[in-house]
Amino acid sequence: MTDGRFTGKTAIVTGAGNGLGKASAERLSSEGASVVVVDIDGTAAEAVAAALPGPALAVQADVSDEEHVARYMDRAVAEFGRVDLYHLNAGIFGTFATLPDISRADFERVMNVNVTGQFLGLRAAFRQFHAQESGGNIALTASIASLTGSADLLPYVTSKHAVVGLVHAAAMYGGPLGIRVNGLAPGIVPTDLFAAAATTPGGANDMEQRASTTPLRRAGRAEEIAASVAFLLSNDSSYITGQVLPADGGASIVNTVRPSG
Ligand code: ADP
Repeated sequence: MTDGRFTGKTAIVTGAGNGLGKASAERLSSEGASVVVVDIDGTAAEAVAAALPGPALAVQADVSDEEHVARYMDRAVAEFGRVDLYHLNAGIFGTFATLPDISRADFERVMNVNVTGQFLGLRAAFRQFHAQESGGNIALTASIASLTGSADLLPYVTSKHAVVGLVHAAAMYGGPLGIRVNGLAPGIVPTDLFAAAATTPGGANDMEQRASTTPLRRAGRAEEIAASVAFLLSNDSSYITGQVLPADGGASIVNTVRPSG
């Protein structure tokens, strides 16, 4: 095990089979955490866990299923005895469509994973903190879509705005207990979600185009997002709670009326 900010800590990362969650699991592990790699794709979770430098456990689970959430918590506690850090990250984009064409089923599917799934994870985390009689630290993956709109992604935008509500309300509850809850809002980062965007008309080019107009003039890397998650989960951010930190190359500060910098 590597020595670092998370030595002796156990972390759960959901949606850790790919993309941001995978990068987060790697970062937390490289800084000493034992990591529970949770993903609906059990094969991906196994592969990530097997490659981590420190102790790791893969659990196949759907974060929007209450019984699955209970299962990953039970497995984590059985393996490592306690859980200190949570990166509640699993999420889906949904289908690209404009408002008149969005199906109720797609809206509910996105809300179910991105909002209900995050609620279930938060509740399980707090219950576990109470059971082990010591607190910890929680980060939720929000999005630049937590702060801004997007015409062809209404369910995703709505769900990610709701994640801000979860962060605020949970931070209010956790604060007096010494438990911090923050959100991390990635901007344009080429993960599988980005690849999914590429399958829609104008998707990938549009995103590359957008990345080139952000203050840093480029897309982000999953490792850069993971570094910000690690900051929020570490004592380096000990006086920060209830915040949603954009890690977006400055995208969220652009004035669209006079955008040029
Ligand atoms: P990003 O990292 O940009 O959020 P990815 O698609 O690369 O997007 O990664 C998201 C991960 O979340 C995938 O590994 C996917 O299998 C996982 N995931 C999606 N839905 C669920 C779910 N309901 N429960 C657990 N994991 C999920």
